Amino acid sequence: MSSVDIPAPAHSGRANWTEVTPQALYDKLQTLARNLWWSWHPEVGNLFRDLDPVRWRQLDHNPISLLAEMTPEQVAERASEMVMYTRINQAHRRLNEYLTDTRDTWGAREAGVLGSRPVAYFSAEFGMHESVPIYSGGLGVLSGDHVKSASGLGIPLVAIGLFYDQGYFRQQLDGDGYQQEEYVDTKVAAQPMEPATGPEGEPITVSIDTREGKLMAKVWLMRVGRVKLYLMDCDVEGNRPEDRELTSRLYGGDHRTRIRQELVLGVGGVKALSALGIKPGCYHLNEGHSAFAPLEVIRERMTNDGLSFDDALREVAQCTAFTTHTPVPAGHDRFDAALIEEHIGPLRDAVGISHEQLMGLGRVEPQNDQETFCMTVIGLKLSRRANAVSSLHGYVSRRMWATLWPWRVEEEVPIGHITNGVHVPSWLAYPMRQVYDKLLGTDWPGKMGDSQIWQSIYDVDPGELWETHHALKSRCLDFVRRRLSRQCRRRSEDEASVEAARASLDPSALTIGFARRFATYKRADLFLNKLDEIADLVNNHDRPVQFVFSGKAHPADEPGKKFIKRIANLRHDPRFAGRIVFIEDYDINVARHMVQGVDVWLNNPRRPLEASGTSGMKVVLNGGLNCSILDGWWAEAYNGKNGFAIGHGAHHTDDAVTDERDAENLFNVLRDEVVPTFYDRDADGLPHHWIEMMIESIATLAARFSAHRMVQDYVKHCYLPAAGGLSSDMSVR
Ligand SMILES: *Cc1c(COP(=O)(O)O)cnc(C)c1O
Repeated sequence: MSSVDIPAPAHSGRANWTEVTPQALYDKLQTLARNLWWSWHPEVGNLFRDLDPVRWRQLDHNPISLLAEMTPEQVAERASEMVMYTRINQAHRRLNEYLTDTRDTWGAREAGVLGSRPVAYFSAEFGMHESVPIYSGGLGVLSGDHVKSASGLGIPLVAIGLFYDQGYFRQQLDGDGYQQEEYVDTKVAAQPMEPATGPEGEPITVSIDTREGKLMAKVWLMRVGRVKLYLMDCDVEGNRPEDRELTSRLYGGDHRTRIRQELVLGVGGVKALSALGIKPGCYHLNEGHSAFAPLEVIRERMTNDGLSFDDALREVAQCTAFTTHTPVPAGHDRFDAALIEEHIGPLRDAVGISHEQLMGLGRVEPQNDQETFCMTVIGLKLSRRANAVSSLHGYVSRRMWATLWPWRVEEEVPIGHITNGVHVPSWLAYPMRQVYDKLLGTDWPGKMGDSQIWQSIYDVDPGELWETHHALKSRCLDFVRRRLSRQCRRRSEDEASVEAARASLDPSALTIGFARRFATYKRADLFLNKLDEIADLVNNHDRPVQFVFSGKAHPADEPGKKFIKRIANLRHDPRFAGRIVFIEDYDINVARHMVQGVDVWLNNPRRPLEASGTSGMKVVLNGGLNCSILDGWWAEAYNGKNGFAIGHGAHHTDDAVTDERDAENLFNVLRDEVVPTFYDRDADGLPHHWIEMMIESIATLAARFSAHRMVQDYVKHCYLPAAGGLSSDMSVR
């Protein structure tokens, strides 16, 4: 949560003391804690923080855990001390209004037909807040941002996911800098969820047949503003012991675990919707993990409406949208015939198709029995609309899957693109928000997907923008130092190291952030190719540069772990000690601090493998500048004045050559553009050209790369055509 103090409104205090009993006050806070709406309203999050700032931090900013440690009387006393009564009442009232009054939303105006037939949005992970650990990285954060924007826009949408009671691993580095993974049990009672119930109020459990017996899952309901997120959980009585652990971990386990998780997500998810009495008008499969879902919908249509398999398939595909998220082969799940038969066999019996026909749905060449079953292929075959997540990724995906449409030329392959975006209120620092409130008018959050309203940023006072950024940078560096000294202490290093950690980093030095999953294609190690030259930049007396790194490698990714080790160990090199640092356990909290405070966000993936990337978009909102390879979103975002480009968007067929060139280009742009622009100060001490770039970046990118714009695009190009049965052949393009 933002730790910046937000002044209490003028009338707060004891005025309402007599009207509210401690229990009533406590109940209001409970209501706030049990809807993740609070997580994108810093002024609401700060209510919890103010109850006990230390525990708040220690409890991962989990308001339910915090309230569980206090009695209503303690809460009331503290609230009285902190003159919080009015703030609590106001927040509670605002949440109620938000939930009940949806007439004025964009969705009410533009997406009315979805009202009784909502969108069902499927995703294997949802990243909404650090206290809800059911995500691992970019895909999850994107899903979380999608759901939050759907809520804000008032789009009728329900979301389906899995509840992982151990989530993704917690990362620590050992004394050698090697990544250690720890799985921590999530306390279910401290999650903002409750059992989902059917029309008669009964808790819902779904049961899925496999050739080897039944697999069951209970269903949780999590409230994300106006959106209901339903999470399947296999930890139920009646499941075999190993199946009770099936949904414990994200992306853990072997192929068999994986297909069983995906069976629960896709098929179980559709069954859960039926049990809930929800009849979706559109199914949105966010990545291939949920691509079994349409098969179950086909079965329902055949049973309920007497359709043939072919007719049901045609109709189901018409209302299904599929989004592919990566060109990296490992990102496309493949299963062999035996696993498919074991898990989808009963469903294929029910829809009356042969094993060969079923396998054919997951193959590029249906008859090729050498080919495994690919979740992306079935996703593409069972959806009428498919999209990639940036313009360049659209091009790459059409090429990648052209063989599925051998009779079409590549440009006519029906995969369009809708570029990703981020949920502005979740990533925007409060002090920056205040700057925007003044310039854009206080109703701007309702229109943040509209480029027009951001044009007023050109009127900002450069000094004020710079000072705001500087305050955020100091806060970010404080956070980094605190984490670094904690890391030293945990490794039982001597007091001198802890002291050094506390004294690391210089608030006036150009600060470059790099944080993301340590997948090899993201090349966190690229700068190491030019380490001596980087050392010169870092140690330049007048114009120093410093780096903050963070990120996890997948537990099975040894090369990724080596990257982490090499970077983390730079702290032992006197040239880099206290100047290149690594923060452990990258999560939404670390991400929020970093994107809100760095001067420059570095992104140097191996083109064209970064489908979109979203962390750089979060930086834009807070006044940071991107310095990136022209890949993913940056290939369409960069205009020559709103940030920095590494290279010219070319790549060699030989990776080693590409890497060598990109390292050279990276170093050149840092030395020749980034550093000189940052340190080019006028008499007033301001880097005017740099500030112009900050403004240009906000003006040209904030709306275009917002999740509001993204969700509006999905509504216009996918959801409405799907639900209304309008013909729209890949209008996504
Ligand atoms: C935004 C975000 C990501 C995605 O970052 P990319 O730049 O797209 O790789 C991953 N993890 C966390 C915690 C994030 O907040």
